[in-house]
Amino acid sequence: MTDKPTIGFIGLGIMGRPMAHNIVRAGFPLVVYDLLPHSMQALIAAGAQAAPSPQRLAAQVDIIVLCLPDSPDVQAAMTGPQGLFAGVRTGQIIVDMSTISPMVARELAAEAARVGVTMLDAPVSGGEAGAIEGTLSIMVGGELAAFEQVLPVLQAMGKRILHMGAAGAGQVTKACNQLVIAVTMQGVAEALVLAAKAGVEPAQVRQALLGGAAASRVLELHGERFLEHNFKPGFRTRLHYKDLNIALDAGRTYGTPLPATALVHQFFNALMAHGLADQDHSALITLLEELAQTSLTATVEAR
Ligand code: NAD
Repeated sequence: MTDKPTIGFIGLGIMGRPMAHNIVRAGFPLVVYDLLPHSMQALIAAGAQAAPSPQRLAAQVDIIVLCLPDSPDVQAAMTGPQGLFAGVRTGQIIVDMSTISPMVARELAAEAARVGVTMLDAPVSGGEAGAIEGTLSIMVGGELAAFEQVLPVLQAMGKRILHMGAAGAGQVTKACNQLVIAVTMQGVAEALVLAAKAGVEPAQVRQALLGGAAASRVLELHGERFLEHNFKPGFRTRLHYKDLNIALDAGRTYGTPLPATALVHQFFNALMAHGLADQDHSALITLLEELAQTSLTATVEAR
């Protein structure tokens, strides 16, 4: 027997599955739900129970965690006919770890309060590797007391866990994170393509830049993917496109022009038109290569 609260986890994709595994490893009883039954198999094998709907999951657990693609998916799981709100009881805490609109997060937190539960927005950064290793950065918005109550569960999944403010503050922070990554990716892609076109080995340019003021995680990780044309997700282009849309929408709501973000948003739009929506967002490099009529994977002589 354990005195730990029972956790419900909804959404077992690239991120949710390893996050849920870490919750089991930390000794919490777990109940899972995903629209795709095969996504739940690995967790059931690890000792979790499966619920037939979010509504039924809510009735079996103390704390509910979601990790779903986008705002409409979270709205469906919470307010839909067999959604969480049909099964929750007063005092439960819902932790939404999906990346969704801050405005939708605020609306859902207000609706949750009306049915007697507390909702926190707690999006993550760190990618699949961070989810597997339990080293995610977690940015939390919502009531401080609820944050403190769920902290041991978040600590099973992440290392840097910060309370950012009221409902929606976690999602605002995540939008900032996503626009910094996108704009930095664009800069690194332009630099490596320029090097290639100018006859300087781009891999060597990346090495030189990693030792100076242009060093970044994006140069390190995405820069390597650019050079290798490794577009296996990772982080799907369609999800980063969605995240920049969220950032631009927040920019419109709060009167903040985001011109560089808008540019990269259009490049991701072009990538999707090229049929690359489910490839890693590092496929961005192929558009810059096309514009410059060069390739990072060719030898210096062949370029
Ligand atoms: P994914 O597409 O791999 O997984 C989503 C899962 O949710 C799938 O298993 C799908 O079947 C399930 N699902 C969809 N709608 C559902 C519903 N209504 N009810 C139950 N299950 C449903 O996505 P992912 O890469 O795991 O991303 C999840 C969230 O985390 C997204 O908001 C994404 O932006 C964010 N995120 C992803 C990464 C990354 O590197 N992949 C990093 C940080 C944050």
